[in-house]
Amino acid sequence: MKAFEKLLLENKAWAREKIKDDPNYFKHLAQIQTPDFLWIGCSDSRVPANEITGTDPGEIFVQRNIANMVVHTDLNLLSVLEYAVVHLKVKHIIVCGHYGCGGVKAAISHTNLGIINKWVRNIKDVYRIHEEELSAIENEEEQVNRLVELNVEEQVYNLAKTSIVQKAWKDRQAPHLHGWVYGLNNGILKPIIDLAPGSKLDHIYEYHDL
Ligand code: ZN
Repeated sequence: MKAFEKLLLENKAWAREKIKDDPNYFKHLAQIQTPDFLWIGCSDSRVPANEITGTDPGEIFVQRNIANMVVHTDLNLLSVLEYAVVHLKVKHIIVCGHYGCGGVKAAISHTNLGIINKWVRNIKDVYRIHEEELSAIENEEEQVNRLVELNVEEQVYNLAKTSIVQKAWKDRQAPHLHGWVYGLNNGILKPIIDLAPGSKLDHIYEYHDL
């Protein structure tokens, strides 16, 4: 059997199992989508949102990209964010990074990665903002892991800088923003930052006419 054929076979077994537990499982799930959470995570195959949080299909709206970035010119991210916040009215947004992130390692290196440079440059900007702290860390792995944490923090602030989030904060005092880092070594999610609705930002990022 080819590797991809195994996926299709496993899928059939999974669907059968679900129906065995609850004959209406897919009927219910197909009718309505009301997740409370938007998850912005890394594309890394080792950090699947549902598995590590013990959640089922229907519970988390998911966006993943290299190094869990919130880039203000990323139409994909912005569309997901607007849909989640304005239409699904999610209560929480989680930015989830992970220690040992390849995207963050790439940002610290001086390797030319072609088109990936443009994406990774956003992480290099985070490094520049925190250069004093980061350049003092001699162990490379520790430096990467600290940048992973600072990057998650920065992406949570990037969410708060959008008019989408600020307007929702004003209109319905939600969503709550969270920044977590996942440990590949122990499977544990570590909270890094928490922004409640209405949190103060650097004034230059605040919109007054929402
Ligand atoms: Zn990663």
